Amino acid sequence: MLAHSHWRTWLLLLALVFASIASAVVHKVKKGETLSQIAGNYGVTVESIKRANGIKDANKIRLGQRLEIPGGEQAFFEYTIKPGDSLSEIAAQNGLSSRQLARFNGIRNVNKIRAGQVIRIPTGDKAKSHPALPASIKASLDKTRIKSGKWRYIVIHHSGTLRDSAKGMDRYHREERRMENGLAYHFVIGNGKGMGDGEIFVGDRWKKQIQGGHLSSLKLNQISIGICLVGNFEKTRPTSKQMERLEALVAYLADKAPISFRHITTHTTINTNPTVCPGRYFPTSQFKKKFEG
Ligand SMILES: [Zn+2]
Repeated sequence: MLAHSHWRTWLLLLALVFASIASAVVHKVKKGETLSQIAGNYGVTVESIKRANGIKDANKIRLGQRLEIPGGEQAFFEYTIKPGDSLSEIAAQNGLSSRQLARFNGIRNVNKIRAGQVIRIPTGDKAKSHPALPASIKASLDKTRIKSGKWRYIVIHHSGTLRDSAKGMDRYHREERRMENGLAYHFVIGNGKGMGDGEIFVGDRWKKQIQGGHLSSLKLNQISIGICLVGNFEKTRPTSKQMERLEALVAYLADKAPISFRHITTHTTINTNPTVCPGRYFPTSQFKKKFEG
């Protein structure tokens, strides 16, 4: 009898150890994060993080450092699955991969979710997984009331020219191509030649929430947000500033529109007529991976 109760004590202890391992949250420090932000995100104190990680100076945390968040349950909110929802779309809209979301909810088969099911969506560091937009651009974008459900795709283009500006393209589209709404894209991102490197131009078509003129299909133009990067990526690569700003812009749009990461695409991928746009040196799969998580 005595031996038996020992076993039970042992099992209980083992279970406790595993439970605490399983619930330990580890946070990887991202660019610009402070310890108090991280603590706030997980609903724990700065002191407890410092203690658990042997940190003496709260200002001395480094990019990429892995912090144990003691007693830190990952913060989450609850979401009720609606008919037609897919786990990957819910995940994308929350800056997660479907794998992360499935793991967080103990879901084995990502295709087996049902309407009415309540899942937990982890919060905490999702907003910081992409570079931030410059404050002035974000403020200007926040002014536009996005037509809910209108936009289904984000389509990336290059200008095909080494030097260009939104102004120049607007003139070309208006005068040569006879487009009454001018600039065919919703956004242009400069490369430092003709426009600032990484400078985001917000076009009228976006402000007015009207269709683009960047694809050959009228139907696709009506549901696709067009972003043009200045440059000829058949000859050169986009600048790193351009790629950083593109990621920030796409993250913002995908979140607000909202658009599934599967629908973040390029001209050549979506177009019905053959085109090389946005060029062989545009890092399509690398870029898309940033949104898959
Ligand atoms: Zn194009």
